[in-house]
Amino acid sequence: MKRFAIAVDGPAGSGKSTVAKAVARKLGIVYVDTGAMYRTVALHCIQEGISLADEAAVVASLDGLNMRIQPDTDGQKIFLNEEDVTAKIRTAEIGRGASDVGAYQKVRERMVEIQQKMAKELSVIMDGRDIGTVVLPEAEVKIYLDAGVEERARRRVGELEAKGETADFEEIKKLIIQRDYNDMNREHSPLKKADDAVVLDSTSMTVEEVQQAILDIVQERVKNV
Ligand code: C5P
Repeated sequence: MKRFAIAVDGPAGSGKSTVAKAVARKLGIVYVDTGAMYRTVALHCIQEGISLADEAAVVASLDGLNMRIQPDTDGQKIFLNEEDVTAKIRTAEIGRGASDVGAYQKVRERMVEIQQKMAKELSVIMDGRDIGTVVLPEAEVKIYLDAGVEERARRRVGELEAKGETADFEEIKKLIIQRDYNDMNREHSPLKKADDAVVLDSTSMTVEEVQQAILDIVQERVKNV
């Protein structure tokens, strides 16, 4: 079968990773979570005591950062200088930090290079903010996955509570709105729908319904899947 790519973009908490993982499993292709890469850069800087507001220092820190992405049965594992940081990067603080470092063009260039290399070698479903617009403009399938902010905040609270953490709905909602604002209004590669992306609004759809909608689009656009 010919190699192909599925790009999934959308705001925080729209369900991109859950759905992309499920589609990857179904199609037997690799899932790449690009947000994890920006999160890992943020974690590295925080661990090194580098201020995320200091662009030059953040960019310089990339030289001491060895990032390895390993496709896994449950999505992907990500290693920072050979330490498995997959779980460690899933905090609200690191999410905010990822949005800070993701605003820097030099950081983006480095991440995009790795992402494009992965998609050149394998069939992938890649999720992020700039996949359909910048990373994989030639992707066979582009999805822009959206959902209402109330629903996205509810899902985030549910995820945190499932991990045994307490979460304040209004606080989470505020953080999501702030992060989306940053991501949509930054100068470099802001979050926006690619002209040729299909918009799916998952507010009142189940994961299975979104998954099926994507599979239908793949079936239509990619031959011999
Ligand atoms: O998707 P996730 O919440 O893990 O992404 C964390 C942050 O990383 C986003 O808010 C965004 O600022 C940044 N990001 C990005 N480009 C991507 C993926 C994530 O700028 N392709």
